[in-house]
Amino acid sequence: MSATETTTLPDSPEDKGGPGQALLIVKDLRKYFPVRGGIFGRAQAMVQAVDGVSFSVEKGEALGIVGESGCGKSTTARLLIGLTEKDEGEIIFDGQGLGDALSLRDLRRGVQMVFQDSYASLNPRLTIEESIAFGARVQGLDDPVGRAHSLMSRVGLDPARFASRYPHEVSGGQRQRINIARALAMSPRLVILDEAVSALDKSVEAQVLNLLADLREEFGLTYIFISHDLNVVRYISDRILVMYLGEVVEVGPVDAIWSRQAHPYTRSLFSAMPSMDPDNRTKTPPLSGDPPNPIDPPKGCRFHTRCRFADSVCKTKAPRLMELPQTPGHLAACHLHDPASGHPKAGQEGLA
Ligand code: SF4
Repeated sequence: MSATETTTLPDSPEDKGGPGQALLIVKDLRKYFPVRGGIFGRAQAMVQAVDGVSFSVEKGEALGIVGESGCGKSTTARLLIGLTEKDEGEIIFDGQGLGDALSLRDLRRGVQMVFQDSYASLNPRLTIEESIAFGARVQGLDDPVGRAHSLMSRVGLDPARFASRYPHEVSGGQRQRINIARALAMSPRLVILDEAVSALDKSVEAQVLNLLADLREEFGLTYIFISHDLNVVRYISDRILVMYLGEVVEVGPVDAIWSRQAHPYTRSLFSAMPSMDPDNRTKTPPLSGDPPNPIDPPKGCRFHTRCRFADSVCKTKAPRLMELPQTPGHLAACHLHDPASGHPKAGQEGLA
């Protein structure tokens, strides 16, 4: 189906933001989790899970979010859907701010999430039909059962065979199809896929990825696709956002980042990616060691303890996320790209 033949899911919420308005705008999002201890369970320290994250997602776009475990990508996803309460920052969905004109109920209708663990995501006591119809019924949408059957067919599960089965009676790939159908049953505008294909076998993963790509095209969906697998992110995404220790370090069009990683951390992630093509192998050594403790992240650039280009300025001054002059829309937070940073190698081509 071509982009001009895009349909919408039944009862899709109307576009309130208007033309040209990004579907999602996140401004300076922050979430710290207390680490409690002692006999009174008082907060002893704070884990800085998400610290000043800003980005936007256009209508119909797929944004891939990558980074090591613990970088804050899943916490960001949970903040976006209201499963975790933000400490600071703004979430503007379809032109309306959360807690302002936008209620949590409306946000949860417009944004749906598919998790990695397909089994834990489903209620084992509900049949597949009941699971898919449940949310639509709670939201008072028309014909939840008819909607469930239609979506089951669309994701490749014959309702006559699967409607009355329970989650433990189907395979992992089929369960993830059920979770996708369940998310779509709410007629969302944005679907967050948090490691949604990571637990699947490679052949099943490819089928589910193709299904997601088809659904996006057919229904004009917008995706946030979180994964540690760069190849999978490349397949599904228009842009990539890279997180490190709760911060955004690089964001840009997928082709721009694929051809030139501007941040040393992104370069290291790519160098760790297996490739059969000798021309595709980078000479950058893969990252060594674990990320620093998020309770007490390094001052200045948080990556300086693992960066081979780190200079004294990196230990005291946090880099700004700046657009690279050569590629519009490609931003990186590294002193090497800021001529005014004071880094002795700033502006030298080919370093990072
Ligand atoms: Fe490395 Fe300094 Fe750039 Fe941070 S700011 S990534 S430490 S060169």
